[in-house]
Amino acid sequence: MNRYITAALSAALLTALTSCAADTAPPTASERDVFAMDTFMTMKAYGDGADKALEAAEARIHELEDELSVTKSGSDLARINSSGGEAVAVSDDAAELIKAGVSYFDETSGALDISVYPVLAEWGFTTGEYRIPDEGTISRLLAKVNAGAVTVEGSSVRIPEGSMIDLGALAKGYTGDEIMAIFRENGVKSAMVSLGGNVQALGSKPDGSDWRVGIKDPFTPDTNMCVVSISDRAVVTSGNYERYFTGDDGKNYWHIIDPADGHPADNGLVSVTVIGESGLRCDALSTALFVMGTDRAQTYLRDHTDVDAVLVTEDGTLLYTGGISGKLDNTGGRTAEVIARD
Ligand code: AMP
Ligand code: MG
Repeated sequence: MNRYITAALSAALLTALTSCAADTAPPTASERDVFAMDTFMTMKAYGDGADKALEAAEARIHELEDELSVTKSGSDLARINSSGGEAVAVSDDAAELIKAGVSYFDETSGALDISVYPVLAEWGFTTGEYRIPDEGTISRLLAKVNAGAVTVEGSSVRIPEGSMIDLGALAKGYTGDEIMAIFRENGVKSAMVSLGGNVQALGSKPDGSDWRVGIKDPFTPDTNMCVVSISDRAVVTSGNYERYFTGDDGKNYWHIIDPADGHPADNGLVSVTVIGESGLRCDALSTALFVMGTDRAQTYLRDHTDVDAVLVTEDGTLLYTGGISGKLDNTGGRTAEVIARD
């Protein structure tokens, strides 16, 4: 009888140990890398629905690229840009994003302007054939730059003849939000994506702790300057080191254009990271605050407390909003100051 009791006890113990191990084993991550929208994207999701979610997310990324790319022939953007001032019927995604572009033009007093594209092209950022345009050409092109003249009615978009728009400042942020929605629909509760540096997290890490997201040092972009701890947030950076060329004059020229003068925005900031719930909003604002520069960006952040931000000035100081004080690890040891928001 003892033998039977021992056997039964061992079986019970084994079951208990196995189920205990199953409870504590970390869930395995499903991962997928995608090259789209001219950039590398990595996605990591945990849980039962993860594989299906990643499959659907990849399909959605390609769908959005086909609609929103400014260079793919037949895309909504290509059709708008060759419309000669006529109204064009577009996808819901393009209509929504262009509408957002117009409203951010207003909200940022023109710092974000989706119609700056012809100026960007003149500097060579659309082809890689970089050059410093002459001032006459810049002012001629700037005359047509005005996102306020873009109209969206339902799914119909009209831009003035001679204007062109691009959604490079917004599209990856919107894509991040769409991926998070797909993950949620598939029951994923923990995930992290990086869309060419636009990081967005769903929930926390599977063990319940925050995701830790490194922010690059704009002066040495292969190292991180600091780390922010987040859950359910987007972390989006715009920096002068991301895409630039060195002119014959020895100066660097980068891909974020100040619509006020048609030159790469050079208003005291070298990098802007925005942290918030919406990928689209963080993407729009990281570009816009970069254009605004040190003073206007801080004023904007004082008036808009739904997002946090880390700004890096050209002298290497880190300015950050108090909302992330306890979440920011200043690993690089740069001088850091809080942006007062009272
Ligand atoms: P991001 O990396 O999100 O800051 O976006 C930069 C991209 O947005 C550039 O590569 C251009 O395609 C576009 N862009 C540049 N300057 C502006 C601007 N002032 N407003 C809107 N889009 C811009
Ligand atoms: Mg942006």
